[in-house]
Amino acid sequence: MFVDSHAHIDTSRFNSDREAVIQAAFAGGVTRIIDPGCDLASSRAALALARAYPGAIFAGVGTHPHEATTYTAEVEAEYRAMAQEPEVVAIGEFGLDYFRMLSPRETQREVFCAHLRLARECDLPCIIHVRDAHEDVMELLRAHGQGLRGVFHCFSGTVAQASECLEFEGFLLSFAGPLTKQGNELPEVARLAPLSRILVETDSPYLVPKPLRERRNEPLFVKQTALKLAEIRGLSPGEVAQATSANAARLFGLDS
Ligand SMILES: [Zn+2]
Repeated sequence: MFVDSHAHIDTSRFNSDREAVIQAAFAGGVTRIIDPGCDLASSRAALALARAYPGAIFAGVGTHPHEATTYTAEVEAEYRAMAQEPEVVAIGEFGLDYFRMLSPRETQREVFCAHLRLARECDLPCIIHVRDAHEDVMELLRAHGQGLRGVFHCFSGTVAQASECLEFEGFLLSFAGPLTKQGNELPEVARLAPLSRILVETDSPYLVPKPLRERRNEPLFVKQTALKLAEIRGLSPGEVAQATSANAARLFGLDS
């Protein structure tokens, strides 16, 4: 029984077989899926999906750093209204991405802070995307994120960065497909992080975990990352499933 804490199943890459992908996940033991929005349109789409699968799919509302220039007062007002709906369990995904830098750095920082204010106002957890921007995320969270809760989604940093992230008491680290790949510090991060602070996700349709060779990721494949986590920590897959599902339910209030 797994929770895929981050899957963009609203995207067009699932248009031809979305229902089959969702049913395959449920049949394979994925009980719940969080679909985070990346802009206004996908936040609306995520909410519509959550309404279609009550208690099984949940939505986040937010603007990805790539789209930061589309964040306006009108967008924010609609997120605020959507956040009142019971199917919306998070603000995000939002964050800073200096790797692709598709929006100017200053805009990304302003929009990041706007999401933190919204999360505080709505009392919802944050789903945070970080790429080549660890220092700035830490700086802005220290200045404006005290007392907030959330997740560093698809955590891909170093051991030292992970321990800085875990200094924010309400925040968890989420592992995705990169945990199954070579050449990073993620196994060490996954070994050191408290079990109560770990989530698993697919980030579908991206980041297919090894050893799968599919071209598109989907929620069912969250098991591969969970199996890797079990191997690293010397736990059974069932223990990892139980712990990460309980963590997701607690962070996102899925049982309330
Ligand atoms: Zn994402």
